[in-house]
Parts: sequence; C-alpha cells; structure tokens
Amino acid sequence: MKITEIVSHVLSYDLPDELGYSQQFYARRTAHLVEIKTDEGLTGWGECFGPGNVALANKTIVEKVIQPMIIGMDPVDREVIWHKVYNLLRDHGQKGMPIQALSGVDIALWDLTGKIAGLPVYKLIGGRHRDSIPVYGYGLMLMRQDIDSHLSRFANEAAAIKEAGFVAAKMKVGLGAKDDIRLAQAVRQSLGEDYPFMVDANHCYSADEAFYVGRALDELEPLWFEEPVAPEDRAGYRSLRNRLNTSISGGEAEFTRWGWRDLLEGQCLDIAQPEVCALGGISEYLKVLALAQTHFVPVINHVWGSAIAVATNIQLLATIPPTPGGMFQREPMLEFDTTDNRFRDQLLLEPLDIQGQVRRQNGHVTIPDRPGLGVEPDMEFVARYTVD
Ligand code: CA
Repeated sequence: MKITEIVSHVLSYDLPDELGYSQQFYARRTAHLVEIKTDEGLTGWGECFGPGNVALANKTIVEKVIQPMIIGMDPVDREVIWHKVYNLLRDHGQKGMPIQALSGVDIALWDLTGKIAGLPVYKLIGGRHRDSIPVYGYGLMLMRQDIDSHLSRFANEAAAIKEAGFVAAKMKVGLGAKDDIRLAQAVRQSLGEDYPFMVDANHCYSADEAFYVGRALDELEPLWFEEPVAPEDRAGYRSLRNRLNTSISGGEAEFTRWGWRDLLEGQCLDIAQPEVCALGGISEYLKVLALAQTHFVPVINHVWGSAIAVATNIQLLATIPPTPGGMFQREPMLEFDTTDNRFRDQLLLEPLDIQGQVRRQNGHVTIPDRPGLGVEPDMEFVARYTVD
C-alpha cells in the first residue's frame, strides 16, 4: 500500500462565550485534522495540536513540507517515516510547529495501520491494561469579569462538573496569585472535602509566586498543580517539587523523547502530561511513556481538541501499564473539556458521547474496539466548518 495524498482540514467556529486561561482570552475554536489517503482506498485520520492561526501554519507544514517527503511510502512503515521527516526537519525545528505537524501525520498512519491489520490501536501497541477509563472534567475558565463574579461562577461550575458525573474537576487560575488562591478555596468549598480537583496555571507564575500559591494549595489538597512555571524553567519546577506537598504536573508543551528526557532526568515532575498531538504523534508518545516509566513518573495524558484527539487518547490511556503495580493504585484519567466543543461532540458519524458515558457509567468511558482509532468523520460537517 502507498500513501497518495495528505490533506489538512482546518475547522473553526465562533464560541458562544469568550473563554480565557492565564495567557489570553479566545472567542473561536479551531481544530486541525489530518487525512492520509492511499492507493487502495483506505484513509487514516490524525490531529495536530495548535489553535487559531498556528493551525494554518501547521497545515502548510503538513501539506507543503511533509507530504512531498513521504508520498509513495507504505503507511505501515511508521518508524521509517517518522525518522525520515524528523531528520529532514531537525535543522528547522526540533520543537514546536514542525513536530505538531508531524504528530497529526503519525497519528493518521497509526489509524491506517490499524485499519490494514483490522485491529484497534491499543492492540497494535500490545493490549489494554483496563476495561474503562475514568474521566475528569475541566472548565472553570477565566472570563472578562471581576473577582467576585469569578468566585461565584467557579463555585457553580465546579458543582456542575461534579453533578455531571466526572471523577474530578480541573480549574484555571491566572488572575494573580492572591485572587487565584481565593478561587481555589472557593472551588474546594463548593466541591467538599472528598471530591478531587486540580489547579492549572498554564505557566503564568514565577517560581516564588508559584511557591506562594502552592503553599495555600497544600492546605486544600488538590490532586496536582499543573504547569505552575514556564516549561523552560527546569530549576523552578525542581524547587517547587522539593518544597511543596502538592504534586507538580506538566509537560504538555514539551516535545519528543529528547525534550522529555531532560524534563524527567531534571526531576521536574510528579505527574507527566504528554500531548500526543504535539510531541510527535503515537510513535513518539510510546517512547515518552517508556521514559516516564523508566523514572517511575505516572502519566496522565494532556487532551485537547476534536473527537479524533479524544479517540486517540482513549486508545493510549488503555495501554499505560500499571506503574509500579498494586491492587488499588492510581489509574490514568481522560482529560475532558466541558466547555462548548462541536468538533468533539458533532464531528463523527457515530459520536463518542463521552458526557453520556460519564453520566451512565460512574464517570468512566469504555474503549472502542473498532480498527485503528475507530472514528469516522462526517465529511459534510468537515466541509461546513473548513476555513481554508
Ligand atoms: Ca493544561
């Protein structure tokens, strides 16, 4: 079988409400889907991380840079393709957009390989360690409103996530250290003592600010404090890990086995959050997973994007080995964005219906058994939302 064409579909729509995290507000949702066609009629799907205009730049890399390198190759030869593209792009970007672009291509090759073999991706990897995956809900986004409105809205939204059946709730911070502590206190109070929550800073603090916030979080006992400092600030990560009780998580902005080697050898993380649609695709994710296990650091994937990214992550979360092993140990969870996302809820001919599964199955989703990623996009929907 031969690769005949690679098409990037960049989809976009206006959100009903402007949403924000510590770095910016945004009013549009974007998704970048990669479709790989073959001479035998089979098609594979992948997704590249990168919102807004970054998706348009990545589309150019996929179609104009990577496509000519691999046209005519066998889609099953994922390792050969990955290393060919990486080596040819090394001089132009060992991190960032070239690797995001390669990620979507690699995921589509795994989808194709599964379809060729008649096996789901988790079987290609070596089988699943669990029958279902617990799901946590994130939301509690920043908006253009004052602190009092934030406090009451966060309390209400946290309660709604708990009510919807998710196993935990994740909140954003980024209004400034003092207000962020008040937000976390409001969320803990709303959720009660026994329901888990997490705090995501999207790297808005200096190390001393993160320590100040983190000491307050130690009292509230969140499951983790995510991206407290800039991803380049390895010393900041290390010092927070050493001084705080709260677990420090991060890694969504890190790329390839080499970036992750430095993060893990630098003892920066209690919990690793690799983003498969950015770090280099499934081929590279498996190497990062092996590195994390080498360091006994638990992995809980970062998940963002359309139904294709969610389906990819369900397959991968199924394959994370128990580390180190035990009857009642911590399980990986699926991250689920509870804000408006048509590209996740309406893209597929057969939707994943995560929200319904969570409601019916005590906060868990089952693992699809269909070949590849098990997803089939509705091409009319794709055409309707394509912006390029
Ligand atoms: Ca995050």
